[in-house]
Amino acid sequence: MHASYIGCMSSVIYWFRQDLRLSDLTALEAALATGLPVVPVYIDDPATRPGAAACWWLHHSLQSLDRSLRARGSRLILRQGHSAEILARLCAETGAGLVFASRSHEPSGRRIERGIRNLRLVGGPSLFHPDQIKTQTGGTYGVYTPFVRNCLARAAPNPPVSATTRIPAPALWPRSEELAAWNLCPRRPDWAAGWDNLWQPGEPGAIAALQRFKVRAIQHYDTDRDRPDRLGTSRLSAHLHWGEISPNQLWYATQGADKFQAEILWREFALYLLWHRPELPDRCLRPEFERFGWRDDPPALAAWQQGRTGFPIVDAGMRELWQTGFMHNRVRMIVASFLTKHLLLPWQQGAAWFMETLLDADLAANAANWQWAAGCGVEAQPFFRIFNPVIQGRKFDPDGVYVRRFVPELRGQAGAAAYPPPLVDLAAARARALAEFARLR
Ligand code: FAD
Repeated sequence: MHASYIGCMSSVIYWFRQDLRLSDLTALEAALATGLPVVPVYIDDPATRPGAAACWWLHHSLQSLDRSLRARGSRLILRQGHSAEILARLCAETGAGLVFASRSHEPSGRRIERGIRNLRLVGGPSLFHPDQIKTQTGGTYGVYTPFVRNCLARAAPNPPVSATTRIPAPALWPRSEELAAWNLCPRRPDWAAGWDNLWQPGEPGAIAALQRFKVRAIQHYDTDRDRPDRLGTSRLSAHLHWGEISPNQLWYATQGADKFQAEILWREFALYLLWHRPELPDRCLRPEFERFGWRDDPPALAAWQQGRTGFPIVDAGMRELWQTGFMHNRVRMIVASFLTKHLLLPWQQGAAWFMETLLDADLAANAANWQWAAGCGVEAQPFFRIFNPVIQGRKFDPDGVYVRRFVPELRGQAGAAAYPPPLVDLAAARARALAEFARLR
């Protein structure tokens, strides 16, 4: 960048996206390195508005980010509309000649980037740039293990940089919209009512969640991570999705916890896949599955969504999702297998419900995992391996603690009568799925 070019600008724009933090933010550091006043902005763009639950998270995370910026002499400007138009207008209003931002891996985010003038993309949501990780023949990986081997053989991820203490403000602030007017919180007040007690969106909440995990759970992670009845995982996924903590920060804070870091690399792999296969959220990566005989059955889909399938571990998971905005990973695998194999419904219908109701809804992780569960991803659970929800429940929730927490009908004899009967006969549903799979082959 030429010093003379910077010399004729009066400020630069920092465009916050899925990187709602101030520490270890290389794109923000690059903006600050210009020495010019920085105008931080978040744009509510219709092309990138998240699902309903994630909107709740976003609302609170933006509030938190604004507080952190104000503590550093700055503030967050909010604008609604198409990103390219808003940024062009803001540049004109503030005399900014450059827009700094972190890279997106999502197709809509990448499309938007292409339409923005004077954009400087620095860093992104992954540990490594996805174009850096190549097979020996220069291709892209479709399988996790060699991908990870390649990642680990590379130079270590960049160590995190600490937060800047001051962000130079422009002489005059451009107009900002009111966050409340964006109506990001669900209109059904009962839905999000309990989330305040469970989650703390924003960078301080992410740091606190990491500390809690390190004190309470990281040493038992290898054994407890598969137990939905225990608090055995980090619950950092929504913080990671919104970039309230960087993967580099997490990587360096959890050195030695190999099993945990393997999960961070699953996240990395999903982001990598989405970058190289942007069709991931929509189409089966194994093309033959496009001919698969998925069923159309709205009542069965509704029973699954509402946790009324008559299979306790499935219903507990779906109700945990609705009540808390979260579902344990093991149970996500069980409910996804049940939907796609026992109910034979398209994985995209399950993925869409997750995107709407998960606080950690993430296009890459969600699509990659749904394709894994449905057996149609490049690296996937083979289709013929069908989780039996009864056996899974016994194995991972052996005392029924998790099930009783979310399915009150099963807490005592009296309520059991109100619990729905099984939606399918497991053996018959399994045979139906296998027959459909055999037809495909
Ligand atoms: P931890 O066990 O503490 O793991 C730490 C971090 O590693 C997570 O926060 C997450 O960022 C990453 N991670 C862990 N497992 C996976 C995985 N299998 N794939 C990718 N990243 C992983 N995760 C999302 O963040 N958003 C989603 O929309 C999402 N949808 C899913 C859908 C299905 C059908 C399945 C089976 C899994 C999905 N996951 C998704 C992955 C996983 O379930 C969650 O990341 C995890 O449960 C979050 O809890 P945690 O932060 O306590 O995880």
